[in-house]
This record gives sequence, structure tokens and C-alpha cells, in this order.
Amino acid sequence: MVTVVGAGFAGVEAAWALAERGVPVRLYEMRPLTTTPAHETGWFAELVCSNSLKSKLPTSPAGRLKEEMRALGSLVIRLAEEHAVPGGEALAVDRERFGEAVTAAVVRHPLIEVRREEWTPAASSPGDTVIVATGPLSTDPVSEWLAQVTGRQHLYFYDAVSPTVDASTVDLSVAFAQSRYDKGGDDYLNCPFEKDSYLAFVEALVTAERVPLHAFEAGGKRDAPLSPPQKEEEFLAKVQYFSGCMPIEVIAERGARSLAFGNFKPVGLTDPRTGRRPYAALQLRPENREKTLYSLVACQNRLRFGEQRRVFRMVPGLERAEFVRYGVIHRNTYLEAPKALTPWLELRELAGVFVSGQLTGVEGYVESAAMGIWSGIVTAARVGGGKAPLPPRETAYGSLLSHLQDPTDRPFAPMNVNWGLFPEPAEPSRDKGVRRERKLAAAVAGLEAWLEALDSSAIPAPKGTLGV
Ligand SMILES: Cc1cc2nc3c(=O)[nH]c(=O)nc-3n(C[C@H](O)[C@H](O)[C@H](O)COP(=O)(O)OP(=O)(O)OC[C@H]3O[C@@H](n4cnc5c(N)ncnc54)[C@H](O)[C@@H]3O)c2cc1C
Repeated sequence: MVTVVGAGFAGVEAAWALAERGVPVRLYEMRPLTTTPAHETGWFAELVCSNSLKSKLPTSPAGRLKEEMRALGSLVIRLAEEHAVPGGEALAVDRERFGEAVTAAVVRHPLIEVRREEWTPAASSPGDTVIVATGPLSTDPVSEWLAQVTGRQHLYFYDAVSPTVDASTVDLSVAFAQSRYDKGGDDYLNCPFEKDSYLAFVEALVTAERVPLHAFEAGGKRDAPLSPPQKEEEFLAKVQYFSGCMPIEVIAERGARSLAFGNFKPVGLTDPRTGRRPYAALQLRPENREKTLYSLVACQNRLRFGEQRRVFRMVPGLERAEFVRYGVIHRNTYLEAPKALTPWLELRELAGVFVSGQLTGVEGYVESAAMGIWSGIVTAARVGGGKAPLPPRETAYGSLLSHLQDPTDRPFAPMNVNWGLFPEPAEPSRDKGVRRERKLAAAVAGLEAWLEALDSSAIPAPKGTLGV
């Protein structure tokens, strides 16, 4: 028997993957008796915000991940397709019908026992195999326990991340590699501003449209009336307390030169094109060991995504940058996975306890569900006395897990699946389209190899006929 905590995207997939492999599951879900500040129903796998499960195109990173999930027997993707509504390239779903269908399938599964109650660590005994999939709004006792087990510094309560760009789309005839005073290698890229381009950027930044604040993020209840600016200030105080940062647009509002003296100070830098110090410089830091992704240093913000693309493309060198992830500052509980988790998503400090979904540091419904399937496979193998073979690095799964294990000393930030996570192809090309085709081909071959390895491992094969 495996205990799965939370019937969100990860929890239902983990429970399903286990049960379909013949392993009995006890699944805890506290809703509707107790709820989170974002959920509104008692359905399993509730879509708390958008009803989109991202791109359907098999040639996109999210489409590729879905292909791999399908091959592993995903419940979420199958039912999302059955309850799809028109959404262009995106897999959009009817949220009521989808939630109802997922709940019905899980509740009816003969090997899944559902307990509609809040789980606390005291409910499990040492030696139990547990998958904790309590999501970005985990209850306090669960968060407190995870902080104790992993070390408080490895659990985050707020996600304050800067936008990330695909390295191959940065204009290297403008952005230059250099660290301040030439000390510490050339890991950083610098985007140099002249006075005019800097002032235009600041003006665009402070006037750009921002994401409205959720009441609960500032500590209020979901339905509590918002009273900005008081709530906004409470929220920012919390963010600063937990993450030590302020949104860049708030800093820029303090005065036109505040960024030039702070986040974008150009000291110790010399632009090789002019031979002098730039007026200001936005630094880009590698987001992974392979340097295929760069994050914009100290650019955490709460602008709308379209606005971020517009404003940050005004930065010299980023005019054609492709954003693989936008900046956010919001409530989000997650672990510093490279320090706290093994690639099998088991807590390094507590054998037998696995973490799944958004808590692991992936971001999004689909990515969370994908991790759920992996946790189900891993624990099915564990119960059978074996060890699941890791996905090849080239697959979408391998790419996500590689992010969760990347040992760089950058601050760890949650990530959705994107091109930059897939490894550069063995045969390089300057053409982005060709590179992506090669990445996809490698992912397809990697999946085949992985499925074979899973078939020949000690993991029970999915029965395929147990659930409906
Ligand atoms: C406000 C908000 C909006 C978001 N919008 C989007 C979006 O539009 N698109 C997108 O792709 N991603 C979005 N996300 C990100 C994220 O991908 C989703 O939250 C996703 O649902 C995460 O999946 P999960 O399985 O990890 O957690 P969840 O789906 O949140 O599931 C966790 C489950 O655990 C239950 N639970 C928690 N604690 C306990 C406990 N102690 N005992 C028993 N049950 C418990 C909860 O009730 C919940 O059902 C959003 C996140 C938030 C917070």
C-alpha cells in the first residue's frame, strides 16, 4: 500500500499509475471539507486558474511532454482530450466535466481507497511509502514538516523569479560576456544601456500593466475584499521577508536612476564595442549548467506576460529574445529540489517519502501531472523491490528532471517545460528550426529506449483494465 497525499494534478496521476500497475493506494484529499485559498470545488485535479493544458502540437515542448505522458498511461491527458473545448493550438478543457471525470475515474478504481480528510505527517508511520503531492498551497503542518525534514532554507513559500530567455536568441553582437572587474570568469552576459535606451526602458517598465493581486496572497481569505494599496504593501512586505526581493517595477518607481544605481549598476564592466562603462547594464546569468537558458538578474516582477515580452525586448541585446518563462512573484510552496530531492523525487533526508507535483519545483498543471506519473512508476518499482530506470536526458521527462537536479549555485527557480531545457543536439546547427527538429528526434528516440528499459525492469506492467 502506498499513501498519496493530495488529489491534485500530481496526486491523481501518481495514484493512477500505481493502481494501474496493481499496487493498492490510499489517496488523501482534504477538499471540500478543508480547502486551499485557490480551489473552489471538491473535484480532483481542479484547474485553479486557466483551463488550458498548453500546446497540443507534438512539435512543441509541452506537446512533446504530453506525448510522453500518454505513452506512460496518463489519466489527466486522456480525460482532458475527452473533455476538450475549442482552444486553437492549446488543449483547453471544460473544467467542470474534466474535474468530474477525473474524480469519478479515481474514486471507482478498485485499488484506490479515497480518504476525504486532511493528512498530517502523524497519519503515517515510519517505513510507510508516502508521496506528498499537496501542491503550491500545501497546508501549514505539511509545509512545516517538509521544512523540518529538508532544512528550512530548502523550502520556499514565495516564487519570486526573473524572466528566463533561450540563450540562442540573445544578440551576442550587443550582449557581452564579462564579470565585474573581470573577476570570476565570463559566466554572465551583460546587456549594455546607453542613457536614452535606459530611460525609455524605465518609462515602459513603470507604466506597464501589472497582474492584479489575489487577496489570499496578502494573507486574506479568497473572498476577502481587496483594499489596495494596503494589501499590496502587506504582500510586498511578505515577499521581501521570504524572498528578500522587491519587484523591479516598484524599485524603478522610486526614481529614474534607481535601477542604474541598483539592479543594473554597471560598475566593473567595460563594453567591448565602445571601450567604456555602459550607462547601466542588465546582467544575464546561466540558468543551467549547459548554458542554454539565461535568467535576467534581479528582474523579478508582476507585469502581465505580454507586457514583460514588450518591455524586456527594449533591453539592448534582447530585441529578439524568446522568453521560455516569465517573471512572477506569487505564493508558491516548493522545495529546492537539487538539494532536497533525488532524481526519483525521494527526500534525501527521509527514505520512503517522495514529493511530487509543483512542490518539486516544476511549474504548471501538465508538468505537475507528469511528475505524478513518474512518482507512481518510481514507487511501484520500490514496492516491488526495484528501482525505476531514469528517463534519458533527451526526453521531455529527462529535461524536467535535469532541471530539478541541476547542481549550479544559482538560486533555484521553478520551471515549466521549454526548449531551453532540452539538451543541445549532438550535431550543432545555427538554424533554430533545425536544432529543434534534432532535439525532438532525440527525444523520440530517448522515449523508445526508456519505455524498453521500463518494460524490462522489475516494475509491474500497467494492467490497463483495472480502472475505467
Ligand atoms: C493561484 C494559482 C494559479 C495557477 N494557475 C495556473 C495556470 O493557469 N496554469 C497552470 O498550468 N498552472 C497554474 N498554477 C500552477 C500549478 O501548476 C497548479 O497549481 C497545479 O495544480 C499544481 O499541481 P499539484 O498536483 O502539485 O498541486 P494541486 O493541483 O494544487 O493539488 C494539491 C492537492 O492537495 C490537496 N491538499 C493540500 N494539502 C493537503 C493535506 N494536508 N491533506 C490532504 N490534501 C491536501 C489540495 O486540496 C489539492 O487538491 C497555478 C497555481 C496557483 C497557486
